[in-house]
Amino acid sequence: MTTAMTAEPVWVEINLDAIHHNLREIKRELAGDSTLCVVLKSDAYGHGIDLVGPVVIAHDIEMLGISRNREAAQLRALGFTGRLLRLRSAQPQEMQAGTAWRIEEWIGGFPHATAASAVAVAAGRSIPVHLSINSSGISRDGIDVSRGAGLAELRALASLPGLDVRGIATHFPQEDVDDVRAGTARFVAESEVIRASLAQRGARSPIDRHCATSFAAFTVPESRLDLVRIGAALYGDTAADPKRFRTAMALKSRVAAVNGYSRGESVGYNRAHTLARDSVLATVPVGYGDAYPRDLSGRAEVLIRGKRAPVIDLLAMNCLTIDVTEVHGVFPGDEVVLYGRQGGEEVTGADLELAHGHLAADLYTAWGRMLPRKATGVHALEHATTLG
Ligand SMILES: *Cc1c(COP(=O)(O)O)cnc(C)c1O
Repeated sequence: MTTAMTAEPVWVEINLDAIHHNLREIKRELAGDSTLCVVLKSDAYGHGIDLVGPVVIAHDIEMLGISRNREAAQLRALGFTGRLLRLRSAQPQEMQAGTAWRIEEWIGGFPHATAASAVAVAAGRSIPVHLSINSSGISRDGIDVSRGAGLAELRALASLPGLDVRGIATHFPQEDVDDVRAGTARFVAESEVIRASLAQRGARSPIDRHCATSFAAFTVPESRLDLVRIGAALYGDTAADPKRFRTAMALKSRVAAVNGYSRGESVGYNRAHTLARDSVLATVPVGYGDAYPRDLSGRAEVLIRGKRAPVIDLLAMNCLTIDVTEVHGVFPGDEVVLYGRQGGEEVTGADLELAHGHLAADLYTAWGRMLPRKATGVHALEHATTLG
């Protein structure tokens, strides 16, 4: 670890060996039958395209999923020459800039298709597109082909200039096996109708049908179809087959101050916690200003000296207080793990979800994007060597 990193109050570590392992498992299960689209949106779910991108590209993945143009530019700069798929509807301005990176656009409805067509015509080049349909019932950005108007829109869409239809897609609203099964069946039926109608209009084949995320692909095999869009499993954060994947990110800090206080004293803002016994408390320089949310106060646990310690105060912008009465010999500088492993213990995404009530990804995408990031593992050494 560099000196600069040791001086940071809080940082994330990205274990590139875990990314490599997860990718091997994903390929083992899914590659071959379906095209694999590995999802690197939101700066690789906060893990950093600069760190994760080279590992993924070295695996010869055919397609990468992105959200922002900046991510596409980064991946092209890293040497990726394969296909890029945007996993949401883009604004016309984004699509226009996106043509430079050869991004395949997610078409989220008829007005959106006409906007994409106008961008293509103005740019003088066709845009590869994937038509989103509402088979899953997410009702977000897809055409509902069960409505007469939806079918008419799809027919009209097929004759818009400048759109090169490469795929038909839907996205599931929840991670529930029965819901995914039903959505897949409806998607297969609806996409058949669309494929037949596009073929009549002379669209080029093949047109890939895709709906599967990590959860769907690993729990409902018939959802895999022609292409799978895998994000969560790469980072080791999926409920589908959690034992198979390793969590890639850890959130770490170190103890600053340690003090003894008497039974009956209150701790922290609003006097929200009262000590039930004489206690040893340690402050850790992490707060809601670091995207460690205040509603983890009194609910989360951290790891210190290989043991769990509760966050007891209503935490502050830049620090929180843990009760280390049961942890022997805590001293300033001791490593504190707020997410991830230490010794035989682990604070998992499920632990955070239980404490916080929201998705772990809601937390770690923010941590990864705002805090200093450090790569770990053998692959990190290789990465450092390649970078000279
Ligand atoms: C993020 C995203 C995915 C990847 O989902 P995971 O659950 O992370 O595997 C797939 N499809 C779309 C449309 C997405 O936005």
